[in-house]
Order: sequence, then structure tokens, then C-alpha cells
Amino acid sequence: MAINWTEAQIEEVIHAVIKNLNGGTPTAKSGWDGAQYNGRSYIGVYTDMNDAIDAATAGYKAVRAMSLEEREKVISAIRDLCRKEAPIMASLGVNETKMGRVEHKIAKHVLVADKTPGTSDIVAQVKTGDYGLTLTEMAPFGVVGSITPSTNPSETVICNSIGMIAAGNGVVFNPHPNAIATSNYAVDLVNRACAQAGGPRVLVASVVKPTLDTAQIMYKHPNIRLLVCTGGPGVVKSVLSSGKKAIGAGAGNPPVIVDDTADIRKAAKDIIDGCSFDNNLPCIAEKEVFAFKNIADELISGMLANGAYKITAEQAEKLANIVLVDTKNPKTGIVKKTVSRDCVGRDASVLLEKIGVRVGAEVRCIICETKFDHPFVQHELMMPILPIVRVNDIDEAIDLAVKAEHGCRHTAHMHSKNIDHLTRFARAVETTIFVKNAPSYAGIGFGGEGHTTFTIAGPTGEGLTSARSFTRYRRCVMSDNFRII
Ligand code: NAD
Repeated sequence: MAINWTEAQIEEVIHAVIKNLNGGTPTAKSGWDGAQYNGRSYIGVYTDMNDAIDAATAGYKAVRAMSLEEREKVISAIRDLCRKEAPIMASLGVNETKMGRVEHKIAKHVLVADKTPGTSDIVAQVKTGDYGLTLTEMAPFGVVGSITPSTNPSETVICNSIGMIAAGNGVVFNPHPNAIATSNYAVDLVNRACAQAGGPRVLVASVVKPTLDTAQIMYKHPNIRLLVCTGGPGVVKSVLSSGKKAIGAGAGNPPVIVDDTADIRKAAKDIIDGCSFDNNLPCIAEKEVFAFKNIADELISGMLANGAYKITAEQAEKLANIVLVDTKNPKTGIVKKTVSRDCVGRDASVLLEKIGVRVGAEVRCIICETKFDHPFVQHELMMPILPIVRVNDIDEAIDLAVKAEHGCRHTAHMHSKNIDHLTRFARAVETTIFVKNAPSYAGIGFGGEGHTTFTIAGPTGEGLTSARSFTRYRRCVMSDNFRII
């Protein structure tokens, strides 16, 4: 998929779409919050979480009453609006969170519209034998409570909505507090699409001010039958302790190994393309490289030719002290390094400026050579900063890459033509996604085969979630009958 929108084109589309919105005026950078957008109230967004859950419950009843064809009509309308309003959501997301890149966020929304499975993902199974026929169907849970991140806010709301509605559920969202307007814009979009397709006015719901307290209301509400959480380790732990059925899509720290059989020029470009995509916000993006020492120089020069800027060890220390900050755990009093929210998802040029280096927009990634124990290797930075560690051989590469992944079992990448190396690393790292010889985003269907999702559930095992992940199996048995042979 080509990513070739210019700033002027994006601005033009945003203005055209806003003009069409009920009551809107073309001022994309002002007049929006968690409850309204340019003076038009978001549909399905409530002050009280209990009201949002009631609305999602009504939405669930409405979806259950729909035929599969009607559900698919709603999903098709969501896809259309998502494509059309991708520039608005991309621009809102960058403006609100200060993270990521508009052109890449547009591409992410188009990917969601094109490659999120709908009702075709829901399939029944039949078993026949001496004792008759048994039918197993994928049934909805009811109302799903979905917690969404700041890194892919509207993408996750729309992707989850498509899958959850296809499965026959209602949905209530508790979006990230730093991305409320963007997430709720997507909730509104799903509802507008639903109404356009002849469905109810409110199918999915959210709250004006999501907090940890509104999440707790969601966890405890009897109507919520399934919790789906997309975020860091804290929130995954909290949903898994809720006492309810939960799907947890958590953090990763994807390592990349490049051995001396790889197409080094291609590997260099692929790695910079993947690492810099949306300023490294995707949880699947390349976070640290382990390069065979006999090809490391060639790899680095290939990266420099593809928009990377190399900093010295001294500059790396200076940058590490800015992008990682000491944070005290209020409960234990223990001080730990955590990523600075002011640096996550920022442009490489903005990060470089913090250490006194001025570069143009053509620089999309900062690279540096480090040792394995450097904080750039150990922390999931979610910034276009890529540490490179030289290794002697495949044993050392696999050993260090597995350690750097920290057992998240999320995503890993490798550039190699040696089948034994590829197989050994894939087996050792045990990640949900393993990408060979491509940028990381191929793993979610962007220039790679397979469906997309922005909820990759490693900890609970659903993998790349889709409609079927949000269903429960139900069995119907017809004893001694219904066979035709
Ligand atoms: P985050 O963990 O800060 O927030 C995620 C959501 O959880 C937010 O809505 C937040 O308000 C909420 N939350 C946090 N702690 C909570 C608690 N104790 N109880 C209830 N809600 C709580 O995540 P973020 O910074 O927006 O996203 C980045 C993180 O998410 C990274 O670690 C990234 O790897 C991960 N992520 C994973 C996936 C995946 O599919 N596996 C997708 C996107 C992001």
C-alpha cells in the first residue's frame, strides 16, 4: 500500500469531510473534545459509564435482531466511512496525543477498513456420526468492555468494533485518557455508519471522561461478559484480575536479528521503514537490532541511506537521560526508569533537537551502536530510536534477542536466507508474530498476507484477534437423527 499523501492533500480532504459533517466548520485543530467535534455532539458518548453500558446493551439487542446480511451492511458502511474520514482521525490523533505521523495513521485506518475480517470469520462446525449430528456455533458474549490505547486510538476502536459487531456483540469503550477525542470520534463514526446502513442510532458506546474508576464500573457491571484490553502491562494485569473472561493484548519489545546471509540493503530499508512507521508507536515495530558483526557496517550504511541518523555513544547517553525518566511507584516506593510520555511517538528530528542536533524531516529514525544492557535495548521506547548490538554468531544473536524480548512473546523479526537460523530463532522466541525478511507491519497484513488487527492478544493466546475471538462456542446435539447418509 502506498503512503504518499502530502500535507496539502490531507488538509484538503479534512476540510471537505468536515464540511459534510452535520454542523461542522473546517477548523480541524480546534473545537473538539471527548464529547463533541466542531459543535456536533458525538453519538453514543455518555457522561456516566452506567448509561454507556445501558446503551451498549441496547446495541447488543439490536445486533442480535439483525440478520448476518444486515450486520455485514453495517460493517461495510463502517469500512466506507473509515476510509473516507481516515485523514480526520489521523490528524485528530496526532493533534491530541502529539504522537505519530498523519500520513502513517491514514494508512493504518485504510488497513483497518480493508483487512479487518467481518462476519465471514464466524463459522459453524458440524460433526456427524453413528449417534447423529452435533452443531457447534460461535455465539456472541453479549456486551464487550473494551479498553483502548493512546498509540492507535481510533484504529483500535474501529477494528474492535468491526470484529465485535460481526460476532454479534454490543461494545462499550473505556478509551485512553490521552486520546479521548480521537477515540470517541471513532465511536461516533461507527454509530453514524450504523444509522446510514439502517441500524440503530447507537450501536457502540463510550464515556466523555474515561478514568480508572469508569474502567472499574465496567469490570464490575453484570452486563459486561467479556473484557478486551489493549495496552501496557498494568492494564492487562488489571483486566486479568477482574474475575471476568478477559482478552489481554499487552506490551512487546520486538527484537530484529540480521545475519550474514540476508539481503543487507533490503534489510536496512525494511528495518528503517518498520521502525519509523508512525514514529514506532505500533507494538509490533522493530525496537532493537542484533546484527552479525561481519555485516553490521554494511547494514548501518544501508540504514543511513534510508533516512537514519547515527548518534555517538555519548549522544546516546544524553538522549537516554531525556527519554527515560525516574518514576517512583506510589505503592512500593521503588524508583524505576520509565519512558517519558513527552518523547513517545515524537519525530526523530524533535528527539534529536533535545540533544542539540538539528536535522530536517528527511531523518525518520535515530540509530546508535550500544551494548546489550543499554536502556534503549531493554525498554519498549515507542520512539524512532533504534539501538544496534553487534553479535558474533547466531547463538549469541538468539540468546540476546530472546532476553531483550523479556518473555512478552509478542513480536520478533529476522532478516536471513538461512532456514536453520530462521527456524531456530522462531522456535526460541515463541512470539505471536514472527516476520521474516520484511518490515514489521507485514505482520499485521500491511504488505503481508493475512488479516489485520490492532489488538494482538499474546498473554491470553487469541493471537491476532478477529471476530471469532469475541465469541463463545455453543453446541446443539441432535441424537440419532439428521444425518443424510
Ligand atoms: P497504557 O497501558 O498506558 O494504556 C492502555 C489503556 O489502559 C488506557 O485506556 C489506560 O487508560 C488504561 N489503563 C491503564 N492502567 C489501567 C488500570 N490499572 N485499570 C484500567 N485501565 C487502565 O497504553 P498506551 O501507552 O496507550 O499504549 C502503549 C502500550 O500498549 C505499549 O506497551 C504497547 O506495546 C501496548 N499495545 C499493545 C497492543 C497489542 O495489540 N498487544 C496494541 C497497542 C498497544
